[in-house]
Amino acid sequence: MPDSKSILLVEDEPKLAEVLKEYLERAGFSVQWLAEGLPAASWVKQHEPDLVLLDLLLPGRDGMDVCRDIRKFSNVPIFMITARVDEIDRLLGLELGADDYICKPYSPREVVARVRAVFRRIEYCGSGRPPEPEFRVDHERMTIEFQSRVLDLTGVEFRLLAALMEKPGRILSRERLLGRLYEDNRIVADRTVDSHVKNIRKKLAAVLPEREVLVSVYGAGYKFEW
Ligand code: CA
Repeated sequence: MPDSKSILLVEDEPKLAEVLKEYLERAGFSVQWLAEGLPAASWVKQHEPDLVLLDLLLPGRDGMDVCRDIRKFSNVPIFMITARVDEIDRLLGLELGADDYICKPYSPREVVARVRAVFRRIEYCGSGRPPEPEFRVDHERMTIEFQSRVLDLTGVEFRLLAALMEKPGRILSRERLLGRLYEDNRIVADRTVDSHVKNIRKKLAAVLPEREVLVSVYGAGYKFEW
């Protein structure tokens, strides 16, 4: 655990609050408890907790309104706690902006696990990104590697892909690409580029199935997007 995260617990039943607070504190979190909805949003504004556990039915101002209030100024993770499973669907439909829903009766242990999970996700995103997958272009050997796997490209395909990769995001017209494909300036149809792109995409999909990096731009040409 990194230095202790602060959690605001808004819960009007003291017994429940006490138990959950204890579990969370034992897990290394620091917990503030409010028994009413009304002061919750301004408390969040002032103290900027790392997470809010928000009961739905609260005296003063209910959890839905508190959630909406907080979302006006903060992206803090909010877990809504509700007494009825069927209510979760309704709450989801309202798009309150809560990050998770917990149903009573809950096991405090599970709540702790879910709180930890959300912090792990945040740290993962905050620490930059997942390790950036890498392309490596070797002009001498005319190979392109993706995460150490060599793409099985023909000479023409290599030149096409390498040309697009030189400037990610920049659109190259078919005409321009054709100029890069054949050293002997032979006359070929524009469609040639399309069929090469189709083949390259197939080969890329074999190593990178979940992303389309060779993007066609209607009426303009192609770009490499990474
Ligand atoms: Ca309640």
